Amino acid sequence: MTNTPGNQVRATIVGSLPKPSWLCGPGEMFANWRLPAETLGEGQDDAVRIWIAEQEKSGLDVVTDGEQRRRHYIWGFYDGLDGIDTINPGKRTQRGGRYHKEISAARMIGEPEWRGPIFAAALRATRAMTDKPIKVTLPGPMTIVDSLIDTVGGRSEEQLAFRFAELLNQEALALQEAGAAVIQFDEPCFNVYIDKVKDWGVAALERAARGVTVTKAVHICYGYGTADVKRWKTANTDWSHYEVTLPLLASSTIDQVSVETAASGVDVSVISALRSKDVLLGVVDVGSETVESAETVADRLRAALKHADPGHLFACTDCGMMPLSRRAAEGKLRALVAGTALINATT
Ligand code: ZN
Repeated sequence: MTNTPGNQVRATIVGSLPKPSWLCGPGEMFANWRLPAETLGEGQDDAVRIWIAEQEKSGLDVVTDGEQRRRHYIWGFYDGLDGIDTINPGKRTQRGGRYHKEISAARMIGEPEWRGPIFAAALRATRAMTDKPIKVTLPGPMTIVDSLIDTVGGRSEEQLAFRFAELLNQEALALQEAGAAVIQFDEPCFNVYIDKVKDWGVAALERAARGVTVTKAVHICYGYGTADVKRWKTANTDWSHYEVTLPLLASSTIDQVSVETAASGVDVSVISALRSKDVLLGVVDVGSETVESAETVADRLRAALKHADPGHLFACTDCGMMPLSRRAAEGKLRALVAGTALINATT
C-alpha cells in the first residue's frame, strides 16, 4: 500500500478537555465558574489557548477548543436559546435510567427559539489561535430532548426533536459560516434508544445537518468515564447497539461516525458497516487516568484496519476528556498521535 498523506490514519479527539483550576473544580459535570462574569471570558480564552497549543504540540490533525467556554456539553447550547430554563432545573430519568436514576435536567418553559449564533464568536476567537482545522460539537436532537423537562407539552418527543433539529441547523450553518471544518453532533442516546434511532433519530440528525457542506460528524458513546458509567459498562454484556445504528448511519448524509471501543466490549469489526464513511475510533479510554502507550493505541488501530481504509480512519478518544486530570489528558493526546505515527510508519 502506498503511504500517501491521503491514505494515512489521522488523529483527533471527541471534543471536551479538562478545565483548568481557575475556571472550576476538577471534573465538575456542570462547571461552577470560579471567575466573575467580567473576567470569565478572559479566563476561558486563556484555557482555550493552552489546549490549542497542547493539541498542536501533540500533532493532532483536527483540534477543538476543548469546550472550555461551556459549563456542560448540552446546557452550553440551551443557554443560547430562548424558552429553556437552566437556572431552575428539575430532575428526570435520562438515557433510559441506564447510568443514574434521576439527574439534573433543564426545563423547557416556552417555545424554544434560536436567538442568533451561540458558538460562532468563540469559534472565530479559536481560529485566530491556530491554522489547524477546528471541530465544533453540538448536542444531537435526540440527546437534547432526553435531557430536558418539557413543561409546555403538546408535542411528541419526535416532534420536539425535529424542532430542536431546526434550531441546531441554524447554529450549524452559522458555525460553517464562521469557519468550522467539522461540525459534530453528540448523540449518546443512539446507544440507548435503538428503535427510536431507526424510527426518527437519524432523520432528526440529518435535519440538523441539512445544507452543511463542511464535514458532518456524529459521536456515539456510553458517556463520560464517570464512576456510574463505569459501573454500567462493567456489568453490561450486550454490545450489539452499533450493529443496528452503524448500518443506518452508513446510508445517511453524515460523513464521520465516532464510536467508543477502547473501554467498552464493542467488537471493532462493527465498523466494517461504515466503509463509505470516516470512522473516529475510540482508542483511548476516558475513564482512566492511566495513559495508554503508543503501542496500545497502534494495536487498536491495527485491529481496526482490518475493517477500515487508513484514509478513512482517525485515532480518537472514546468520549470527552473533561473529567480527567490535565496531566492525563495531555498524555493521552500524545499517545493518540504517537500510536497513529507508529501505524503510518508501517502501513
Ligand atoms: Zn461521548
